[in-house]
Amino acid sequence: VEIGRGFYSRGWAFGTSGNFSVVVNPNPLRLAITATGIDKGSLAPQHILEINDTGRVLRGTGKPSNETLIHLAIVKLLGAGAVLHIHSVWSTLLSQAYASAGGVVLEGHEMLKGLAGVRSHDHREWLPIVKNSQDMSQLAAVVTRVLQENPGVHGILLQEHGLYTWGSTLADTKRHIEIFEFLMEVRVRSLPIERHEQSVQAL
Ligand SMILES: [Zn+2]
Repeated sequence: VEIGRGFYSRGWAFGTSGNFSVVVNPNPLRLAITATGIDKGSLAPQHILEINDTGRVLRGTGKPSNETLIHLAIVKLLGAGAVLHIHSVWSTLLSQAYASAGGVVLEGHEMLKGLAGVRSHDHREWLPIVKNSQDMSQLAAVVTRVLQENPGVHGILLQEHGLYTWGSTLADTKRHIEIFEFLMEVRVRSLPIERHEQSVQAL
C-alpha cells in the first residue's frame, strides 16, 4: 500500500494504472496482488487480494489486476519474490523510441549498481521491449519467451504501456523501479544530444 501510494505521488501509476504483487507463500504459490481499477493514490489493504497460481482469488473481494497472468508468469519463471509494474511517462517514451530495436541498452551509469547483482557502473543492461496486447495469456507467453531468451535481465518494457521489474523481495523490487525510472529518464532526456552527435558525425 505504501509503495503504491508512493508511486502514485511520483506520477508512475496515474489513472488507476500499475499493479503490484508479492509472493506470500512459494509452495503452493500464493500471491498478494492489487485489485483491478483501483486509484493507487488511495490504495488501502482491502484493495489487495490473495490469489493462487492460476489467478483464482482465495482472499479478499474484487477482481485481481487484468495483468495478473504476467505477474504469475514472471514469478513462476524467475522465482521472483515480488513484481512491480508502472505506467510512467519515461517508460512510455523510451519504449516508443526503441521499439524497432526490440529493446534498449542502459550502460555506464553508477545507478546501474542498484540492480541486484550489478557491482560496477561498467555494466551493460539490456531492457527488452515487447509489443503491447490486450490478450493477456498471449502477452504472458511472449513475456515468458523473451525472459527465457534474455537471462539475467532485471526488467521488461511493454511498448507504449509501461515497465515490469521484479526482485527477491519487495524492497529490492521497489529499488529496481526507482533505478529504472532514473535510467529511463536520463536516456530519454539524452536522445536530443545523441541525435545531435550523430548528425555532427555525419557531417
Ligand atoms: Zn499495465
